Amino acid sequence: MAERLFRRRKTHAVRCGDVIIGGGSPVSVQTMTKTDTRDVAATLAQVNQCAEAGADIVRVAVPDMDAVEALKKIKAGAKCPIVADIHFDYNLAVASMRAGADKVRVNPGNIGGRENLLKVAREAKERGAAIRVGVNSGSLEKDILEKYGGPEPEALVESARRSLEFLEDHGIGDLVISLKSSSVKATVKAYALMAGETRWPFHIGITEAGPGMGGVIKSAVGISSLLTLGLGDTVRVSLTGSPLEEVKVAREILQAAEAAVFGPEIISCPTCGRTQVNLIPVAEAVAERLKDMRAHLKVAIMGCPVNGPGEAREADVGVACGRDGGILFRHGKVLGRVPEAEIVDALVRLAREAAK
Ligand code: SF4
Repeated sequence: MAERLFRRRKTHAVRCGDVIIGGGSPVSVQTMTKTDTRDVAATLAQVNQCAEAGADIVRVAVPDMDAVEALKKIKAGAKCPIVADIHFDYNLAVASMRAGADKVRVNPGNIGGRENLLKVAREAKERGAAIRVGVNSGSLEKDILEKYGGPEPEALVESARRSLEFLEDHGIGDLVISLKSSSVKATVKAYALMAGETRWPFHIGITEAGPGMGGVIKSAVGISSLLTLGLGDTVRVSLTGSPLEEVKVAREILQAAEAAVFGPEIISCPTCGRTQVNLIPVAEAVAERLKDMRAHLKVAIMGCPVNGPGEAREADVGVACGRDGGILFRHGKVLGRVPEAEIVDALVRLAREAAK
């Protein structure tokens, strides 16, 4: 059991613009704009803000043909690949790919039957675009819902299986699959069941995770559970909040799960009655001042001699605090004592030197 944990499931590589999903490539981060897609200026600005914040791929809703027209202009100015999110009308998917979308997300439960799905898939094949078959617990096919008595994990899997078999039988490839439920347990079970059935990469996330800390935690629990099982090739955190927050949270989850590295890892203690410096603002200031750094570096900020020297010695740079100051460490070696007021500057300087 233990040896199977964290071993990534082998998947086909699927191209989405200049990003490869699956095939052993790094887990990519996605988000979705929350502007009206028909407002080109606002949507393009949000797409590029997300790309600058670390989104590898951004999806936009395409609810009508005006949005398709806007998509052309958005695609022309976007700094990352663009996915068109389609529901109900397969014509919008076809038109979006003609407008330049690198990938379309379609929901087999509401695209109007297999023939429409096939029309989308044939267009995608001709244009070299990818398709995400995005099964969602809120929009499963009626007969599947009746068969399972509700949106059970097995029902999500059957919906995806049907579409995949149908598309594969027609020679269609470049597929990405998602099986999303707002329940963490149902989502994890669905992906785990599907994993043995296909080599197409998985887009993972917990749909409609909600606002604030609850949404962040629900997403973290679901996504990290999947990553622990080796499942997940591209990730989207769905928060009732800013897409920039979604990108930030997705990256934090990937880094915490050791599935990616985006910058330094801060190891700081929670503080307690033994702490004799004001450690919380020190840790916050160091994290803030190193947030532009991309190197993977462990920075330990510890409150007392209990665990301090051990953690600080194991980190690339660290401080083990005592009364009114702390002992600095770099790569396991003691550098000397620093007063409390100078800890932040000293750690930031050491971290930047260590990253060179
Ligand atoms: S390292 Fe020391 S100060 Fe920090 S939580 Fe542990 S015992 Fe408390």
